[in-house]
Amino acid sequence: MQFDHILIRYGEMALKGKNIKQFITQLQQNIQQKLQDFPGVKVKRTQGRMFILLNGHDPVPVMEKCKKIFGIQSLSLAIKVDNDVEKIKEAALYALKENTNCKTFKVTVKRINKDFPVPSQEMNQVLGRHLLIHTDGFTVDVHHPDVEVKVEIRNEATYITSSVERGLGGLPVGSSGKTLLLLSGGIDSPVAGFLAMKRGVELEAIHFHSPPYTSERAKQKVIDLTKQLTKYGKSIRVHIVPFTKLQQEIFREMPESYGMTIMRRMMFRIAEAVCKKESILSITTGESLGQVASQTMESMHAINEVTNYPILRPLVAMDKQEVIEIARKIGTYEISILPYEDCCTIFVPKAPKTKPNRDKVIYYESAHDFGPSIQEAIDGIETIKITGNTDVEPTFEDLL
Ligand code: ATP
Ligand code: MG
Repeated sequence: MQFDHILIRYGEMALKGKNIKQFITQLQQNIQQKLQDFPGVKVKRTQGRMFILLNGHDPVPVMEKCKKIFGIQSLSLAIKVDNDVEKIKEAALYALKENTNCKTFKVTVKRINKDFPVPSQEMNQVLGRHLLIHTDGFTVDVHHPDVEVKVEIRNEATYITSSVERGLGGLPVGSSGKTLLLLSGGIDSPVAGFLAMKRGVELEAIHFHSPPYTSERAKQKVIDLTKQLTKYGKSIRVHIVPFTKLQQEIFREMPESYGMTIMRRMMFRIAEAVCKKESILSITTGESLGQVASQTMESMHAINEVTNYPILRPLVAMDKQEVIEIARKIGTYEISILPYEDCCTIFVPKAPKTKPNRDKVIYYESAHDFGPSIQEAIDGIETIKITGNTDVEPTFEDLL
C-alpha cells in the first residue's frame, strides 16, 4: 500500500463566483505544465476537488513542485481505494502509521456517496476502533488531534488523507493578465515579480543594460533571477534594453542632480513602449516608499508623470527586512547579492535630488530632444525567452 494521489485544495478561488471555472482550468493547466517531467502523472478534476494521480512516482518531488504553484491553498497525500469497508480500514491504518511522530488521532468520515451502506457516524467508529487495535501508543483526541485521518467516500471511490501541507496560496498565474516587471539585479525587483505572480499575473521582464559599464555577468545575473522566478509560474520573456547611450546623454545634457529622476523617466517611457508592443497592461517595480533617495513620494510623483499605465509596486509598504525574508524563501536572494554592478550605481550622481520637482523635470527635459536615442534603445532591444527548463550557461565560474 502507498499514497497514490495528491489532493489539491484551492481555498480562495472558491470565492471567485463566475470566474471560478476559468481559475480552476488555469490551475489544472499550470499543474500539468509543471509536472510534465513526471511521465504518466495526471491532474484530474471531480466536483470541487482536484487530484494528481501519481502513477507510481515518488510523491515527494511532486509535492515539492506543487508547493511552488500559486492557487494551491493546501495539499495532502491521499490513497484511493474502492468503496469497500475492509479496504478503507486497511488504507486508513496505513495513512495513520505514516505519521510516525504523532500520538493522538481522530477519524473524520464524509459520505458523499449515499449508496455506501455504512453511515458516516458508524464508519467513524468502525475505523477508530480498527486504528486503536492495530497501532501502539495512539489514542483518540477529537479536539486537538496530532493527526486527522480524513476519509471521503465519493461516488467513484474513497480517498483517505492524514496530513495537510500548506501551498503558496494566491491565484493561478495566467488568470489575471500580464505585467512588465522592471527587473534590476537587486534584491527587490525579483520579490516584486514574485508577489505580482501571487495575484495570478503573468510576467514579462525588462532590464536596462549599460555595456561596457555593466558586464555580461550583470546581464547573466538578471537571466538567472528570471529563471528562478519561472519556477513559480510560466516561462518569462526578458527584454534587454541597450541603455548606455541614453544614460550618457542624460548625464551630459541634464543637471546632474536630476540625472537619476530623468533616467527613471526614460525607463518608464521605454517600458510603456514595450507594453504597447506586447499588449501588456501594467508595469511592476520593486520600489518601496522611503527606502532610498529615489523612492520618495516626490520622486514617484516626478517619475510617474511619463506614463499613465498602472504601476504595481507590491513592496510599497514593506521594510527591507521583510523583502529579504521573501527573497531568501524564493531563492532569489543568493543570486541578487552577487556583486555585479548595475546601470544605476554607475551613473549615480554625487547628490541626487531626493525631492525632485515634477515641473522642473519637465522643463529640463524640454531643452533636449531625447526622442532619437529613446527610439534607438527600443529598436536595440534583445528579447530572450526563459523557460523553466532552460539550462542557463554556467555563469560565475571565471570568478571562482
Ligand atoms: P532593486 O533591489 O530591485 O534593484 P533598489 O532598492 O535597488 O531595487 P532602485 O535602484 O531605486 O531600488 O530601483 C527601483 C526599481 O527600479 C527597481 O526595483 C526596479 O524595478 C527598477 N530598476 C532599477 N534599475 C533597473 C534596471 N537596470 N533595469 C530594470 N529595472 C530597474
Ligand atoms: Mg537596484
